[in-house]
Amino acid sequence: MKVLVINCGSSSLKYQLIDSDSEAVLAKGLVERIGIEGSILTHRPAGKDKVEIKTPMEDHNIAVKLVIDALIDKDHGVISDLSEIGAVGHRVVHGGEKFNKAVLITPEVKKDIEELSALAPLHNPANLIGINACEQNMPGVPQAAIFDTAFHQTMPASSYMYGLPYEYYEKYKIRRYGFHGTSHDYVSARAAEILGKKREDLKIVVCHLGNGASISAVKNGKCVDTSMGLTPLEGLIMGTRSGDLDPAILSYVGEKEGLSAAEVNNVLNKKSGVFGLSGGVSSDFRDLNAAAADGNEKAKLALDTYYYRVAKYVAAYAVPLEGIDVIAFAAGVGENDPQVRAKVCEKLAFMGVKLDAAKNDMRGEEQIISADDSKVTVMVVPTNEELAIARQTIALL
Ligand code: ADP
Repeated sequence: MKVLVINCGSSSLKYQLIDSDSEAVLAKGLVERIGIEGSILTHRPAGKDKVEIKTPMEDHNIAVKLVIDALIDKDHGVISDLSEIGAVGHRVVHGGEKFNKAVLITPEVKKDIEELSALAPLHNPANLIGINACEQNMPGVPQAAIFDTAFHQTMPASSYMYGLPYEYYEKYKIRRYGFHGTSHDYVSARAAEILGKKREDLKIVVCHLGNGASISAVKNGKCVDTSMGLTPLEGLIMGTRSGDLDPAILSYVGEKEGLSAAEVNNVLNKKSGVFGLSGGVSSDFRDLNAAAADGNEKAKLALDTYYYRVAKYVAAYAVPLEGIDVIAFAAGVGENDPQVRAKVCEKLAFMGVKLDAAKNDMRGEEQIISADDSKVTVMVVPTNEELAIARQTIALL
């Protein structure tokens, strides 16, 4: 069966068409600037040249229709008819406490996703728009929702509660949820598979280090803690997000800079992280590494602070895990930046973590990178959220 995987944002839509038997990606692409001037669809069919389609796209409905047209086009298409698409899997960011696993979409599920928009105002409404657009264009094709938060629903209350008045949890469901769950699930499962062991027998720390970054502690196959919280702002220092900070900073900066709460929130999400800390050099680690190599002190400080925060989280997760068997690095930075892995592991030498420098010297490959005498197995496991979504969609059918 062929599964269409959709990741819908407010003005963008990413897609992959995956053959569930071979797990091959038949085509993938990205629609940008939906509803704004300059709409563009970039379609990449496997084994053929990429095509760019520039045409006005008033809304997501039109965008989905153009994606389908591209998939069945006689020149750059990869299927001959829409009926070949057996199911659609949607990435949905917030599933709250309601969803601890993927579900087939029903009118009731859509209502729940809408209600959960209060917790993810930037993401859930956009995800819902994508679902509606696919339903309209592919009537009768089963659609599934795969939630970023679901994998973390096994966390115990002591991991997910904040030290706040309990009534806020009751009234507003303020608690830690965690994100990137599909990736943490996929990477921890794959790490166990590569080692030829059962995930149920392992204590794994997954470091998903992309533009957004989070760490999770996976004990015997279940998430017991993760670094993101109510929103994807908590935890690690990220590309442009601050991660953990003293909450009193919010009102202090607001007062000093004359900013509203929403404006401070914007600074914490978009102008902070390694970007802010480096004095605006970049949120991209390739640029930061180059600037640091050129002697830029702020870029060096941003990188050192980033490494330290990651290492501190990994070590902290030895508590819920009661030890660590495996550390797995994934996502843009984790897969492609050997220096991040080396610097983080250097700080964990006290617990017997030891890298093999030659094995670590690579990008984007699935590989064990620890030395033979390391007490903890360190690995790079490229994440594949789309494949995980396709697999979960198929499992639901
Ligand atoms: P997201 O999905 O959160 O947008 P990704 O997981 O795609 O992010 O990660 C993107 C980031 O990966 C880039 O911003 C960059 O910092 C980092 N990255 C990509 N390639 C490299 C590389 N060769 N070396 C170092 N960092 C890289």
